[in-house]
Amino acid sequence: MSNLYEKTATELAGLLLDGKTSSVEITEAALNRISTLEPRIHSFVNIYPDLALAMAKDADKRIKEGTASPLTGIPIAIKDNMCLKSRKTTCGSKILANFSPPYDATVVKSVKDEGMVILGSANMDEFAMGSSTETSCWGPTRNPWDPERIPGGSSGGSAAAVACGQATVAFGSDTGGSIRLPASFCGVTGIKPTYGSVSRFGLVAYASSLDQIGPLARDISDIALLLNLLCKHDPMDSTSVPIQHPDFTTFIDKPVSGMTLGVPVEFFNKLGNKDVEKSLSDARRVFEKLGVKFVELSLPSLDYGIAAYYVIAPCEASSNLARYDGVKYGHRAEQFDGMIDMYCRTREEGFGPEVKRRIMLGTYALSSGYYDAYYLKAAKIRTLITKDFKKAFESCDGIFCPVAPAPAFKIGEKIDDPIQMYLTDVFTIPVNMAGLPGISCPAGFSREGLPIGMQLIASHFQESKLVQLVAAFQRETDHHLKHPAI
Ligand code: GLN
Repeated sequence: MSNLYEKTATELAGLLLDGKTSSVEITEAALNRISTLEPRIHSFVNIYPDLALAMAKDADKRIKEGTASPLTGIPIAIKDNMCLKSRKTTCGSKILANFSPPYDATVVKSVKDEGMVILGSANMDEFAMGSSTETSCWGPTRNPWDPERIPGGSSGGSAAAVACGQATVAFGSDTGGSIRLPASFCGVTGIKPTYGSVSRFGLVAYASSLDQIGPLARDISDIALLLNLLCKHDPMDSTSVPIQHPDFTTFIDKPVSGMTLGVPVEFFNKLGNKDVEKSLSDARRVFEKLGVKFVELSLPSLDYGIAAYYVIAPCEASSNLARYDGVKYGHRAEQFDGMIDMYCRTREEGFGPEVKRRIMLGTYALSSGYYDAYYLKAAKIRTLITKDFKKAFESCDGIFCPVAPAPAFKIGEKIDDPIQMYLTDVFTIPVNMAGLPGISCPAGFSREGLPIGMQLIASHFQESKLVQLVAAFQRETDHHLKHPAI
């Protein structure tokens, strides 16, 4: 039997039900893996062995009693921006370094109700602003495939933990690519669901009209189980959509022959990386063998995606982050001269440079006289992007494209060049702008041995099609079964 920490949740659930292992055993294997690898990878901000083992014992009890749910006893890492009652939720920021939420995020509550095992909180870029985890005040996470490289971001800790067996599955959040990019760079599967599918209650807000929580896992069966857990209406989130989601596991075995994938010419024209091109064309051949048809299509407004995103997201962030004033939450400056000075010093000390940059960008763009020139224009581009996608889905079931222009880059390579860092998200951002579901699935490796992901995008609330397509692909390929040699 391969190591417990390398198994998928689906495999472990089978072993648990057959009495071949226990949740305590699985959790101990994960905690051992965490202690061995944390000094090199640093996937976690906080680790909770006490909580994890207590939850594992409860899970074993439920399994014995016959009251287990599909994911009972499975260890999970939670991104550090989801409220974990009475523990810590720091969002990778000094300003929340000591923040202990008085309640659980809805997704955390679901995890607890399911009887899953919470291992700890996963490292992330500060307030989810970044593509590399390098903006975390706790220092970067490293890519298990090459510790000299970044794991992607902002959910880099979640992706790295799953990739190297520290956690079986993880939650991430995705505002412009933060689940899909690290999934691609770390060789795991990660999905950003449709905006409104998963409750954002208890998710620390970055850009509220774009943020969405989603799962990262080692294969699509686990993603399907986690979508079943996550996709439900929540009255605590006014943007949560009250629809009946299907049982996603029933799409795992459906044939894909006759389905159509659209290939956006603008995306492929932009690619210049030979390794990414090769992985994508190999993946296309796999789908063609399965009977999937490909059609070329044009998404012209997507060229303006990054520009519009870097107006809309900072505008929303500047408003969301106004609440960190040293009064209600987290850090407060110790020395100050009056209230205004207290606000200023608290924010000066508490926020890192990237967060400050975004607050300044957003505050400027929203200031009187500039609203029409920036925010309104960006909002119009957003509408055009949504229209382009809508038109595209008249002729296909899904869109097939890269996740990122190149595999994982080196630590330090882009941190002083924000524009280069922002361009990493050129293929993921438009999906958030339109509120669509998008998945990243391992599709190959570079000549240097770094994972490369492909992205599939579907129409609103059509996550089931993504599950169906990726399941068929993973039956034919073994990229997702490879483990980093660490
Ligand atoms: N890298 C993008 C940003 O910095 C997206 C981050 C995210 O999806 N949270 O805004």
